Amino acid sequence: MSESSPDVLIVGGGIGGLVLALSLHQAGISCRVLEAAPEVLPLGVGINLLPHAMRELSELGVANELARHAIETRELRYYSRHGQFIHKEPRGRFAGYDWAQLSIHRADLHDVLLAAVRARLGETAVLLGHRCVRIDQESSVVTVHCDNGATHRGRLAIGADGIHSAVRGQLYPNEGSPKYSGVNMWRGATPWPAFLGGDIMTSSGWLTVGKTVIYPIRPPSAATGGKPLINWVAELERPEAVRQDWTGRGRLSDIMPAFAGLSYDWLDITGMIESTEEILEYPMVDRDPLERWSFGRITLLGDAAHPMYPRGSNGASQAIIDARFLTGQIKRLGAIPDALTQYEAVRNPASAKVVLTNRTNPPDSILREVWHRSRGQPFERIEDVISPAELQAILDRYSKVAGFDRETLRTRPSYV
Ligand SMILES: Cc1cc2nc3c(=O)[nH]c(=O)nc-3n(C[C@H](O)[C@H](O)[C@H](O)COP(=O)(O)OP(=O)(O)OC[C@H]3O[C@@H](n4cnc5c(N)ncnc54)[C@H](O)[C@@H]3O)c2cc1C
Repeated sequence: MSESSPDVLIVGGGIGGLVLALSLHQAGISCRVLEAAPEVLPLGVGINLLPHAMRELSELGVANELARHAIETRELRYYSRHGQFIHKEPRGRFAGYDWAQLSIHRADLHDVLLAAVRARLGETAVLLGHRCVRIDQESSVVTVHCDNGATHRGRLAIGADGIHSAVRGQLYPNEGSPKYSGVNMWRGATPWPAFLGGDIMTSSGWLTVGKTVIYPIRPPSAATGGKPLINWVAELERPEAVRQDWTGRGRLSDIMPAFAGLSYDWLDITGMIESTEEILEYPMVDRDPLERWSFGRITLLGDAAHPMYPRGSNGASQAIIDARFLTGQIKRLGAIPDALTQYEAVRNPASAKVVLTNRTNPPDSILREVWHRSRGQPFERIEDVISPAELQAILDRYSKVAGFDRETLRTRPSYV
């Protein structure tokens, strides 16, 4: 292998790939990122960084910069389809964690990570326009072949290339497309007056008639007329999936009348949706957990390894934890296949639990319970529908599965 070949080739410069690059660099391990996109565009809308991911981003020294662009989420509040309060759950530091929960535009998160990678690893650490089409491996070398004809050699190749991963496709050629959940999502971000104090995430309604998840993702600025940027997701059961493309455009008429007339004393949801310039559509999809991610010198990470429904705000956070844990194994064992096997032995079962729980009992199953028990009707008192202890039990169960149990997070040693 040539002198300039890095130890690790990272396929995909999304959230997981960039955090992996920063982590490897921090651990003194050389790497290069091969990213398919020819240019970096401000794509996507809101994303959440949970305390377990924020601990990792703090250890990487990017948490303060991220916080400047984000909203520190104080509470997650659940409301019925009729706008009635069901439950509230403090989040991040307001729940006693040592780390915040940040709600942020994906483009801001990506920008901060990319700038840090370029500043620390050099301008050429991320090669744009390099779509991986195949990876070959010999006894001590991997070769990544790109669609522009370039080939790159290293000791390990990590497929961090998202839900439509080409690396996963090479390892599992017969797997087919991601699985549709029966729910489509329409998403948007729009400047809108702050609601509920400006740092609350809300989840309301239910999927059969229309469910929303709404939270601020950028502080007010002159560019947004002094208003915060509010992210919204409208979810609805539909027999057919919309096209799986992160940039797919939706129309207001796709979601009306399901989301008409939702004006509550805490927010005019319909007005906010109607004021949004660009609506994106995406189906809620995932894939079955895999028995193996690692084959010799190749493994998977993030959405390439374990795409999940966005029903516990966990997709980006789980990718970040993969990146940090993998770095720890490579630092301990070297850039050898055993490091990948050790990484997978812990992260595969842990993330599979999140994938499966998101299918059956994610935190928003609170809304399902209330919808069914109240038969979709307004209620007098929430206690008549479901007890506070039962509501809390649903949330606590999820925290443990997703790895953000407070004590575990506070006391475990660093991954790297
Ligand atoms: C354009 C885009 C917009 C998104 N918008 C949202 C959003 O609004 N809300 C949300 O919750 N999640 C969004 N996601 C998904 C979210 O980023 C991930 O679920 C999560 O952060 C896990 O990150 P990841 O690094 O595993 O995957 P991703 O962040 O999806 O990154 C994968 C990266 O791999 C690149 N890639 C793909 N194929 C190849 C290949 N063959 N060779 C080289 N590179 C390749 C992609 O261009 C991308 O940069 C978006 C993803 C993308 C790519």
